[in-house]
Amino acid sequence: MIPDYLAEALGEVAADTTGETAGYIPELATADPERLGAAFAMVDGEVYGAGDIDTAFTIQSISKPFVYALALSDRGFDQVLAKVGVEPSGEAFNEISLESGTGRPLNPMINAGAITTHSLAGPEGLQPAERVERITDGLSAFAGRRLQMDESVHASEMEHAHRNLAIAHMLGSYGVLTGDVRAVVDGYIRQCSLLVTARDLAIMAATLANRGVNPLSGERVVPEPVVRQVLSVMFSCGMYDAAGDWATQVGIPAKSGVAGGLIGALPGQIGIATFSPRLDSHGNSVRGVSLFERFSSDMGLHVMEVP
Ligand code: GLU
Repeated sequence: MIPDYLAEALGEVAADTTGETAGYIPELATADPERLGAAFAMVDGEVYGAGDIDTAFTIQSISKPFVYALALSDRGFDQVLAKVGVEPSGEAFNEISLESGTGRPLNPMINAGAITTHSLAGPEGLQPAERVERITDGLSAFAGRRLQMDESVHASEMEHAHRNLAIAHMLGSYGVLTGDVRAVVDGYIRQCSLLVTARDLAIMAATLANRGVNPLSGERVVPEPVVRQVLSVMFSCGMYDAAGDWATQVGIPAKSGVAGGLIGALPGQIGIATFSPRLDSHGNSVRGVSLFERFSSDMGLHVMEVP
């Protein structure tokens, strides 16, 4: 019954061919724009899906909440909050917006904050490659299988990383980032180049929905207070400069990525993931947003609604 519902929902949004694949990363611009899939992972480990749920694509910004979770559990709240805030920026994901005076990024979902949280994953003193390893291990634990990196997407994005490098240099000038800031950007872009499927993303989201325990493997990936923090920040800042529209219309803690993935996690219930590469002007998947609007209203998933 759920797979039928999902297939029907995909059928309803399939005709919408508006939006564009991300043009600023040449490798992403070549993605097949017709791909479309949706998966539900329940907190008891049941997974349902329809469409392209086993097609691999790069995780991009959907890595941000998970790496924030790893940084919080590896370094503790005080150390992370001292460097990255929790206020919505209301600005685009790649805006060079830092708190005035301190240079602290406003939140971990914009690139400035995500580059900083990348630097905070793992214990202090790790080499850049060890940090990428810690992040690959951690995101793999969220997914319940070993994730691989797409080297060509990484190389393609690195060639055009001027903006992220500029952000990192600004962070370096404030002392928010220390050491080789270029290596931090390289690691952050590697983190964004991990390959996932909609099925993986649904399980990763379900791990957040399941208090930090992967519902398939049974592994505790991060502690419960970390999950509360991450879901709260996803709710207020997860959808770039469309976060307010999303909070009112869909009402599910969520995160999108420029390769076309979109996740939502509803505490105690479900992890949801969609995949469709064409993006709207905010950088969110057009058909993904429509699907989540449908799921939320059809199933009463808005967190402010009494079930
Ligand atoms: N790697 C991309 C960037 O830093 C991620 C952006 C996104 O998915 O929103 O520009």
